[in-house]
Amino acid sequence: MALDLPFTCPLASGLHARPASRLAEIARRFDAACVVTNARTGVTADVKSVLAVLTADVGAGDACVVRVDGRDEAAAREALQAFLQSELPGYEDPPTPVATEAARVLPRPLETSGASWWRGLAVSPGVGTGRVVAAPVAACASDDVDANDADDVAPIDPQVERQRVTQAIHTVRTRLVARLGHRASAAEAAILAAHVAIVTDPLLLETLFAAIGRGRSAPQAIVDGAAHFTGALGGAGTPTVRERVADIQGICVQLLDEACGSRMARTTVPLAAPSVMVAETMTPQALLDLDRRWISGIVLETAGTTSHTVILARALGIPMVVGIPQARRLLVAGEDVVVDGHRGLAVAQLTDSAREFYARELKRRRAREGVAARAAMGPVTTADGRGLEVGANVSSMEELDGARRSGADGIGLFRTELLCLRAHEVPSEDAQYAIYAEAVRVMQGRPVIIRTLDFGGDKPVAALPRPAEANPFLGCRGVRAYVEHQEIVRTQLRAIVRASATGPVQLLVPMVSSIEEVLWVKAQVAHVQDELAVDRVSFDRDMPIGIMLEVPAVSFVLDRLCDEVDFFSIGTNDLCQYFFAADRGNARVAPLASVSHPGFLKFLKQIVDEVRARGRWVGLCGEMAGDIRWLPLLVGLGLDEISAASQQIPALKARIARLSAADCTERLAAATACGSAEEVEALLDHARVLDRPRALLDPEIVRFDGSCGTKEEAIRTLVDVFFAAGRTDDPCSMEDAVWRREAQYATGVGDGIAVPHCRTDAVTSDSIGILKLQSPVDWGALDGQPVRMVFLLATRETSPDGAHMQVFSRLARKLMDAEFRAHLLRADDPRRVIDQLTDGLQMVL
Ligand code: PEP
Ligand code: MG
Repeated sequence: MALDLPFTCPLASGLHARPASRLAEIARRFDAACVVTNARTGVTADVKSVLAVLTADVGAGDACVVRVDGRDEAAAREALQAFLQSELPGYEDPPTPVATEAARVLPRPLETSGASWWRGLAVSPGVGTGRVVAAPVAACASDDVDANDADDVAPIDPQVERQRVTQAIHTVRTRLVARLGHRASAAEAAILAAHVAIVTDPLLLETLFAAIGRGRSAPQAIVDGAAHFTGALGGAGTPTVRERVADIQGICVQLLDEACGSRMARTTVPLAAPSVMVAETMTPQALLDLDRRWISGIVLETAGTTSHTVILARALGIPMVVGIPQARRLLVAGEDVVVDGHRGLAVAQLTDSAREFYARELKRRRAREGVAARAAMGPVTTADGRGLEVGANVSSMEELDGARRSGADGIGLFRTELLCLRAHEVPSEDAQYAIYAEAVRVMQGRPVIIRTLDFGGDKPVAALPRPAEANPFLGCRGVRAYVEHQEIVRTQLRAIVRASATGPVQLLVPMVSSIEEVLWVKAQVAHVQDELAVDRVSFDRDMPIGIMLEVPAVSFVLDRLCDEVDFFSIGTNDLCQYFFAADRGNARVAPLASVSHPGFLKFLKQIVDEVRARGRWVGLCGEMAGDIRWLPLLVGLGLDEISAASQQIPALKARIARLSAADCTERLAAATACGSAEEVEALLDHARVLDRPRALLDPEIVRFDGSCGTKEEAIRTLVDVFFAAGRTDDPCSMEDAVWRREAQYATGVGDGIAVPHCRTDAVTSDSIGILKLQSPVDWGALDGQPVRMVFLLATRETSPDGAHMQVFSRLARKLMDAEFRAHLLRADDPRRVIDQLTDGLQMVL
């Protein structure tokens, strides 16, 4: 009897190639027939075929039913259901970056530059300049699969033609898989995996063989197949499904090249200088085939904003603009053009001022990216200099790039059991090794803490059927299950130990409640290391071994544990539930188990103090670490590290830098003396005043090396300094605001000083930028003297009324003092200038 599995497509972009290929992969593991029916389109398709699933045109919110029928239908239904419920929503593509209001308005200098520009959609940010290169025919999707290629080859015999098709599929698949093994990023890997699924799709083979059965040659069959699927998908209502036409055509081009033996001639574009590829559209393969050293940008006439080519361009950092009709006609081969992936522009017939604008734009963006990267990437300290590492919690390979980009100081917790939940099986030793080694590679020398499997509790693994437990959270979970599953444990330990040869891997054991468990794991690790040594496999014999501190009992044997392990990571999710005896998954008892309860805070403090006193490293990786409200408490605890979801990391780091460790220590002491969690929370809200506001004056907006020939250049230099420091996101509007003031009255206040100013929300916080000029410039000052020092005063419109004028008049009054001016002009240390000014502006600051 068949089983039905209804579902509603949760993806805004519909069931596109990547989830469809994963769905097919799961379905193919079972004998049972699996067909999906889309109620909206009425199409029924074989789930085991990616191409068939795509033809069902499953869009956002479409109600569908998967019917499973056959010997192992129950297991198949369960696996498909698990995918549809837990994994499918994770395939949502990040929203396309939407141009901000500021980005939509053409900057004045560009508008007046005399260059020609065309507006499209900015789909991959960045700015690139290069010579226009028209993509070769094979790089474009439409009309690619050329009947001429096919017609050249006369049919021989169906058996031979089938072999040619099979061989072509095998070669293309092998090439894709090889590339998958050396992929640069998770995004690229996902696309390549989808292409592998398409090229090995049984429906593709069936369609090609059917054409051969009708008397067509292998190349002709491929052309027919491409036309068939283009027709079937081209009219789909879901844009992401229509966009897959390019993928299928790209694959058919490769098959055709293999069948005709002409691959290299068709797809390689020899490049020797910075180039902008211009095409009607482009297949992902064509993009991957481009020589990336020379690609400055890509302009396409048509491409969906979520096409795989676009996703790849973003992943590879190639500026890209799409949706400029006739781009191939407008942008002439050999001409220099700019691809502006922030504003969605292709700019041609570049004049000197357009080139100058973009040269400045590039410089200013590079400076800003440098500052932002430095702020997030570097280790962070509190305002009074205490270091605190911020690691990332991850559970899959796909999250690694995001972790590194977020500025994570390492992987603080790799929840490996989630790999098994996703795959519905424990990955092989090699598969695990590949993932752990990839984590090490991505994190570039930063520590990677890999937690051994923590199945059980709320994380049962289907591949490890175990007797049901009345109370799984108090049952055989984490390390407690290891003796029972030694083979699986050994496989994982071998993978982790092997990965330790590739970089700083640390092994973390979950749910430890006794010394014996630690000794057992250590013995297994030593055994695995000995085995690998015999086989001459390299590893790091000193790989640190640590434990999760999540069972309260271990806090009373820390003295002995500190002799056995190298580090500790506090899992507040479990520690809190066991401390309060309140199930972490039961909302009814949640109020009982608050991490801000004074009793729990005292407990944490006791643990951290003891571990640190015994010279061991201690981090905290429970959800408590990701909640910015508790950050003063965690800083006050004196932890070595906190580890949280990647998205939280920049905010956590920014707040750490604004907190004082001394204040936090005091605040934690006050919190532990409170009577309730509510009192602690009130105390922390109040403590928000402890966050240091962004300074009006700061060395980040002071420059002493201004080599500007004109007033215009001086103002622009200061605006750039604001942009780099993140104090404006819209430098052109800020500059305009300054010039509007300049038009009203001269800001050269005399004696070599100018105080230009503006009131605009184009700045993100009230600021005074300072520029000392190497040679004086004419400012049209009242006393006719050239200017040597510029103070750019920028306040937000929303700042209190009068604040702007108040600061301005105090600054001007202070600057009237000849002795003060002389000091400023002599000073060569930004901090000193700021100190002198701060004295003078005390009342306002
Ligand atoms: C914890 O218990 O705090 C922890 C980090 O582990 P998990 O949430 O995976 O149980
Ligand atoms: Mg835990």
